[in-house]
Amino acid sequence: MPTKTESQKTYKKELDVALGVVREAAVLTAAVQSQITLESLDKKDKSPVTIADYGSQALVCRAISRAFPADSIVAEEDSGDLTKPQNALLLRRLIEVVQGLRPAAEPEAICDWIDRGNGEPSDRFWTLDPIDGTKGFLRKEQYAISLCLIEGGELKIAVLACPRLPTSFGKGVGVLLSAVAGLGAFELSMEPEGGVRKIAVSAVADVRKLRFCESVESAHSSHSDSERIAAHLGITAPPVRMDSQAKYAAVGRGDAEAYLRLPQSQDYQEKIWDHAGGALVVTEAGGRVTDVLGQPLSWKAGKTLAQNKGVVVTNGHVHESLLSAMETLSIGRASL
Ligand code: AMP
Ligand code: MG
Repeated sequence: MPTKTESQKTYKKELDVALGVVREAAVLTAAVQSQITLESLDKKDKSPVTIADYGSQALVCRAISRAFPADSIVAEEDSGDLTKPQNALLLRRLIEVVQGLRPAAEPEAICDWIDRGNGEPSDRFWTLDPIDGTKGFLRKEQYAISLCLIEGGELKIAVLACPRLPTSFGKGVGVLLSAVAGLGAFELSMEPEGGVRKIAVSAVADVRKLRFCESVESAHSSHSDSERIAAHLGITAPPVRMDSQAKYAAVGRGDAEAYLRLPQSQDYQEKIWDHAGGALVVTEAGGRVTDVLGQPLSWKAGKTLAQNKGVVVTNGHVHESLLSAMETLSIGRASL
């Protein structure tokens, strides 16, 4: 049995550091996103997302490894390609962007910070998606930065930035969501002095009234299977499609009752950085997160959710109805 003090651990330093640096990374990524033009979109130029991805990872890994040198960081990117001669221009632009916020940052240090993210899962580690929803970022739509501390296979603190999501309390566009295990989830405006609000999932329990979100990319989650579920349960609201863990934010603060991630193949293993931060926000807001078979997500299986298939995120009230619809319709089962 944990003692009272252990069960109430507040992770204050971890949360302060995580909030500070995810906010800083969001400033960097928002500045890069604002420079995307119709012309660069037409040319399918992916360099803005590459620069924002590396810049965000550099800043976050720098701060976490300074504050908690013993912790490993499992992040999405490594700097390998950056130092290739054909990427010299990209590297120069990355250095400029990072130096805009950290003027003393040397190029070598920036690459080292990025590579601090190549850690392995251990008893206590952080997982980071420096830009989740790269396609949304390029379309100037939703994306997220997601950071989560995992200790003993449990999610302990999460900070999620959704720089394109309007606050739910009328304080502009751009929110940070934070959660500490056992202590609830909060939404903060990204504006200075923008305010903070404790969040809770919606109380809707009538499955026919549920609003659900899913990926824009049908390759990431089957749209045809979610249509079958909606028809089976009599859900009338059309799905809200958005990129990134902003979908977890939507469920956590009650804008939607569910986020469905329905496997397109039996082989794909979800990445921990695509879910850890968002999952803690939703569970601390009172919701439930499992895979399509109803199993809890296992954070002990390495860099992927190797023991799970798909992800089902709800306000809790509609969870069982969704799982039983999936069972009836054989969704996520071996026939895929
Ligand atoms: P979303 O913005 O919700 O569509 O999710 C973006 C994430 O989907 C990316 O960060 C990828 O890691 C992940 N992803 C890539 N391929 C797949 C796939 N086949 N199934 C599910 N997720 C995927
Ligand atoms: Mg991602």
